[in-house]
Amino acid sequence: MTRQTSRSSARKRQPMAQRPQPRPTANRSQIGFVVLTALIVTLGLAVLTSAQAGGLTSPTAIPSSAIAAVPIIEPTATPTLEPSPTPIPPTPTEEHPGMPLVGIVAGHWGNDSGAECPDGVTEQQVNLDIARRVTEKLRARGVWTDLLQEFDSRLTNYRADVLLSIHADSCEPVDADPPASGFKVARSVASAIPTTEDRLVTCLIQEYAKATRMTFHENSITSDMTSYHSFSEVHADTPAAIVETGFLHLDYDMIVKQPDLPAQGIANGILCFLDNQP
Ligand SMILES: [Zn+2]
Repeated sequence: MTRQTSRSSARKRQPMAQRPQPRPTANRSQIGFVVLTALIVTLGLAVLTSAQAGGLTSPTAIPSSAIAAVPIIEPTATPTLEPSPTPIPPTPTEEHPGMPLVGIVAGHWGNDSGAECPDGVTEQQVNLDIARRVTEKLRARGVWTDLLQEFDSRLTNYRADVLLSIHADSCEPVDADPPASGFKVARSVASAIPTTEDRLVTCLIQEYAKATRMTFHENSITSDMTSYHSFSEVHADTPAAIVETGFLHLDYDMIVKQPDLPAQGIANGILCFLDNQP
C-alpha cells in the first residue's frame, strides 16, 4: 500500500460539503520531529559505534546529512590552565631571617694571581684556601656567609653585617725593621661609620693574634689597604675591613702550611664583632 493510496481513501471519507481542511500544521512538525529524532538516533549510533571501535574514528565518518540536521553544539574549549589569580612570585632571593650576613672576599680570586712564590704557590690560592675555611667556620656558627671574588658583582651596594677581604703580602724578601712578618688589618680611610669599623678592626686584631700568635705589623699598612676598592663599592652602612694574613716570605709556614689557624683567627674576630654589638 502506498502513501498516495492511503491519502486518497482518507479524503474519500471526508463529507463533500465540508471545506477541505488545511493540511494540519501539526502533522508537518510531527514529521519534522520524527526525522530529527531519527537523525539524532543515527548520530548517536554513529558516535556509539565510533566509541566502541576505540574512539579513533574521525568525525567525518558521521553522515554530513546528520550533521546538518542536528543543532551544532560548539565543542567545549580544551581546558587550559587559567593564569593564577595571584601572580607567581619570582624566584625568591636568598633570605636568611634572623641570621647575620657576612661577606668574605678571597683576594684576587677570579681576577689575578696576586703575589707569586718561587715554588708556584700564589697569593690567590692562599687567600681562597683561608677564605673557604673562614666561610665554613662562620656557617657552622649560624652566620650566613657569602664567599666572594675580588671584583664580585654582588659587592656593588652590598649590605651585610660585615664585609671582610682577605689578602696576603709579598713572597719577596723585604728588608724592613721590624722584619716583614706579621698581619695587618685596616678599614677605609673615608669610613662613614668609623666607630663601628674600628670595633671590627679591634676584634680582628685581637682574635687573629690570639689564634696565630703573630704580631700586628701596623707600620706597613698602606693606602692600598685603607683605600681598598671594595670599601667604596659596598653600602655605606656595611662595616668593612681588609686583612693581610701575613707575608708569604717569612710567614709561609703559618699562612700556607697551617691555614686553619689564620682562618680561625678571622672567624673569631668576626664573631667577636657580631656578638658584642653596642
Ligand atoms: Zn693581595
